[in-house]
Amino acid sequence: MKNIKAQKRAETKDLEARLKESNAAIYDLMYYDSITKLPNRKKLINQFNKNLETNEANNSAIFMIDIDRFHSINEIYGREVGDQLLTSIGERLQHFTQNDEGVFANGEDEFIVYHQHLSFYKTEKMGQEMVEMLSNPFTIGDHFIYITVSIGISHFPATGQCIHELLNQAEIGLYKVKRIGRNNYQVFLPQDALEVERKSRLELDLQRALERNQLHLVYQPKINLATGELIAVEALLRWKHPELGIISPGEFIPIAEESGIIRNIGYWVLYEAIRQAKEWQDMGYEISTAVNVSAIQFKDRHFVKRVLEALTALKLPARFLIVEITESVVKNFQSAKNSIVELRNNDIRIAIDDFGTGYSSLSVLRDTKVDVVKIDKSFIDNIPQDAISSSLVSTMIQMGQNMNFDIIAEGIETLEQSNYLLENNCKYGQGYLYSKPVFPHEITAFIENHSH
Ligand code: C2E
Ligand code: CA
Ligand code: CA
Repeated sequence: MKNIKAQKRAETKDLEARLKESNAAIYDLMYYDSITKLPNRKKLINQFNKNLETNEANNSAIFMIDIDRFHSINEIYGREVGDQLLTSIGERLQHFTQNDEGVFANGEDEFIVYHQHLSFYKTEKMGQEMVEMLSNPFTIGDHFIYITVSIGISHFPATGQCIHELLNQAEIGLYKVKRIGRNNYQVFLPQDALEVERKSRLELDLQRALERNQLHLVYQPKINLATGELIAVEALLRWKHPELGIISPGEFIPIAEESGIIRNIGYWVLYEAIRQAKEWQDMGYEISTAVNVSAIQFKDRHFVKRVLEALTALKLPARFLIVEITESVVKNFQSAKNSIVELRNNDIRIAIDDFGTGYSSLSVLRDTKVDVVKIDKSFIDNIPQDAISSSLVSTMIQMGQNMNFDIIAEGIETLEQSNYLLENNCKYGQGYLYSKPVFPHEITAFIENHSH
């Protein structure tokens, strides 16, 4: 009897111990990062809320730290080295907090430093110190590894009132650093939140813009500089938002590219521009029409096929269509070169947009034949007064003559610019000096007014 009881007691004890152990394991899983063994974001939230309850949260700062291009470190050195590097970074960050648990793991390759006694005006300085300290090389095995980091910073109570707001703000700061070029820090600014809010709103509304007929095209004449006659038009997209008014493509195209909806929008643009060109043709105006095509869309395997389908469906001869792509598209994708060849074999012309703003421009044009090169507005802005821009522009024009493609100067706003271009044998141009982008009926009016 006694024995059985003792045995039972022992068993219970054992069970309790095991339960405790597994509870601890579960706790670890829930609140600690498996690679760095650092407490995680959940733990930070609990910690902060505890401090808030006991009035100890005042004057604390959140530093959200992301390692720039960490995935390529994993690719170069392997996962094991990557994991050790993360651990070392975590250790180095301990320098910035007085608590045992002041450094947190935030997802796979991010960290959060929670500094519990820091006045707002000192946050920038500490962000700077973090960037500098982490730029010193790490020794992992026999590798010296250099990293850079991007840091977003928020502060209680200066910027945010609860932990979720603080985390969100630090993230907004972080993304701003990434967007501007990494390797830096940024304290949260309220106007950045507005920007983020507007961006997510536009992203959402853009999904419906097409079906609700909020998009339309305007057309800007391309001009023969010597005669002032229209030689072609460029279709430019406009979005008339029901509440926010006209939104410029400079703002919404990047958003559409990020979300992938640019594909649908791009095909809508293509069809609409071809339809308009056909309408003009039926009216007796033969107007070549250029359409801007995003890199994402140009890379689409079916792009060429869909362009040809659109031309056939709308019965427009291919020679009236010009496809504008930026030089980076040509440079970065072998498949793009094939598409260019295929389009040109089908009589569709290719224009390289924003020329001069990318790198290795010349070699791109040597390998891939195109029909038109558009000199970017930033060069035209500075002619003729700036010697460097002027000589670049005249070089590009000569290059066009040698290599047999047309040059179009973009963004001509003054007579001086147009005179300089003419003197340097540039035949074609586009810009407010001649016409802003306008509605289709204004294009035919322009032709009537400028024909001889
Ligand atoms: P882009 O293709 O370089 O188009 C030229 C931009 O410069 C247009 O701005 C045009 O309105 C503007 N512009 C033309 N002449 C002048 C001038 O003399 N002075 C000044 N200050 N500006 C001038 P927009 O229409 O706002 O378009 C901006 C960019 O958005 C375009 O640059 C193009 O990259 C993109 N975009 C426009 N429509 C489409 C589209 O349908 N699809 C795609 N993927 N991108 C588009
Ligand atoms: Ca363009
Ligand atoms: Ca351009």
